[in-house]
Amino acid sequence: MENNKSGFDTRAVHAGDFKDQFGAVVTPIYQTSTFEFRNAEHGARLFAGEEGGFIYTRIGNPTVRSLEKKLAALENGEDALAFASGMGAVSALFATFLGQGDHIVSTAAVYGPSRGILETYFARFGVAATFIDTSDPFAVERAIANNTKLIYLETPTNPTIKLTDIEQVAAIAHQYGIPVAVDNTFASPVLQNPLDLGADIVLHSLTKFINGHADMVGGALIVKDRETFKRLHKTLAYFGANMDPHQAYLVYRGAKTLSLRVLKAQENAQTIARWLEQHPKVEWVRYPGLKSHPQHELAERQMHGPGSMMSFGVKGGLQAGKKLMDSVRLAKLAVSLGGVETLIQHPASMTHAGLTPEAREQAGISDELIRFSVGIEDAEDILADLEQALEKI
Ligand SMILES: *Cc1c(COP(=O)(O)O)cnc(C)c1O
Repeated sequence: MENNKSGFDTRAVHAGDFKDQFGAVVTPIYQTSTFEFRNAEHGARLFAGEEGGFIYTRIGNPTVRSLEKKLAALENGEDALAFASGMGAVSALFATFLGQGDHIVSTAAVYGPSRGILETYFARFGVAATFIDTSDPFAVERAIANNTKLIYLETPTNPTIKLTDIEQVAAIAHQYGIPVAVDNTFASPVLQNPLDLGADIVLHSLTKFINGHADMVGGALIVKDRETFKRLHKTLAYFGANMDPHQAYLVYRGAKTLSLRVLKAQENAQTIARWLEQHPKVEWVRYPGLKSHPQHELAERQMHGPGSMMSFGVKGGLQAGKKLMDSVRLAKLAVSLGGVETLIQHPASMTHAGLTPEAREQAGISDELIRFSVGIEDAEDILADLEQALEKI
């Protein structure tokens, strides 16, 4: 039996499993919307919360619950909640902690839609947001106001690969009694555990590393205490961005090989980052595993490894970037990240093309920036592909 003292991989494989009546080794898919009560008394007890069990899949489902237990074990949390998407988790987090007249401090370079819902919907409901460069913990302290109810961090950021010192920000936030939530999607629980560093809530887009096979969309919140779990669960059950049992089954399966995939991709990324840094057509490389990364020391202290996400600049700006996109053969030209396959993307002409050049510059997204999500293929093949594509510029 796995327990919370087991190693990471043992937890990844076994945590969340339960015995069914047939001895199934794999957690079954409970594809049902509703659950039959044994009698009126049983139904009453379930609704009153006097007995554990399942009522209706929007409120809870055995397959989804297994996944939640596994995720809690991987992030050293007390419990977890799974959502239909990463954005479902972000929305539920904000809806739970923020109300009219409240304020949130957030990393400026958070995932676009996470910032978008604050600037559009939550602003409309009377929630103020301050977006700052949280890599400076004192900027966080300066941004805190009397009505600040949540500090929201993303580290490392996309696609600029900037880090925030979670431990330091959490210490500051807690002096003011403010909880800290961290979007840990880019690092995955293999490489960074924000709850161990003092954060109160961890968020994941399961779509990325945790599922890892680019075949579903999902999200999760992992918490340290029962009270927060109950508040978030109520939001989930009311707003309804619940995960489907089949979705949960896919992530549950994907998560079992999480560290194998993350560590192989990381090994590839280290080789590729060093190679790119020497390449005459490459201007710069931003990867936390390189000594040239301005926060290399923080990465070594805070993360268990630098991961497999990097960005680099090609000489020749926008046109060179587009040419590279059109010349790669193995790397797929697509958004998203953290899957087994290598993905390449050019933010200035794609994900961030909607921003004005000034806004892009402010966000640190220069025209020559290429975002690279390294997969688990053979490093030599990824390198050969980059080499032939760079030659065409
Ligand atoms: C993809 C992503 C999200 C949103 O997750 P979805 O599953 O696409 O809804 C949030 N944060 C980060 C860092 C992401 O990469």
